[in-house]
Amino acid sequence: MNEDTLKIPQATAKRLPLYYRFLQNLHNAGKQRVSSAELSEAVKVDSATIRRDFSYFGALGKKGYGYNVNYLLSFFRKTLDQDEVTKVALIGVGNLGTAFLNYNFLKNNNTKIEIAFDIDKNKIGKKIGQVHVYEFSELQSRLVEENISIAILTVPAEVAQSITDSILETNVKGILNFTPARLNVPSSIRVHHIDLAVELQALVYFLKHYPNDTENS
Ligand code: ATP
Repeated sequence: MNEDTLKIPQATAKRLPLYYRFLQNLHNAGKQRVSSAELSEAVKVDSATIRRDFSYFGALGKKGYGYNVNYLLSFFRKTLDQDEVTKVALIGVGNLGTAFLNYNFLKNNNTKIEIAFDIDKNKIGKKIGQVHVYEFSELQSRLVEENISIAILTVPAEVAQSITDSILETNVKGILNFTPARLNVPSSIRVHHIDLAVELQALVYFLKHYPNDTENS
């Protein structure tokens, strides 16, 4: 995100891609405007929160009109740096990593997995979903050469920290960590942790203990 958005609260910033994706769908369907109630229903965020989020970047909906879809879209595109492709590397081409390489993320926003790394000789040199898999020993030099700013970790948990340490000398500023390991990083690097097993367990817990609670977290 660019400098103008630094003052947006982090909770709001995290919801921006969600809004962006929905607005893109509306735009593709030829819709010109959207109410906060409609947005709320679609993205499952209450409308008061949406109005507050939007007020941070000066998008004030008009009563009885709602928000202008094109205006919001161009704002989000700029804010989320959608005009520039953010280059991503994926480390660990196992089951999960392979799925990400095939999916890639270009359909939704301008982030693209450019390169992948693994230690497995059977995977090195292959192309998965257009992405070349390189020998892990080339990690640092290639991250720098390709100016990669985000790394996705889909390696076994035991090696996650040492791989993270070897990334520190590159231009990588963000790590999307899919391993269960908690990573220690300097403050210049941001880690987002997605532990799918924990998420699943949390869902099971909520279904069991709050079966009628429809509030989404
Ligand atoms: P698979 O069935 O292909 O092994 P998996 O997701 O069950 O997939 P994991 O053991 O989680 O396997 O490993 C994920 C990937 O990370 C594998 O492709 C493995 O070769 C790779 N990997 C393991 N150690 C490292 C490492 N130190 N550096 C880079 N990649 C590694």
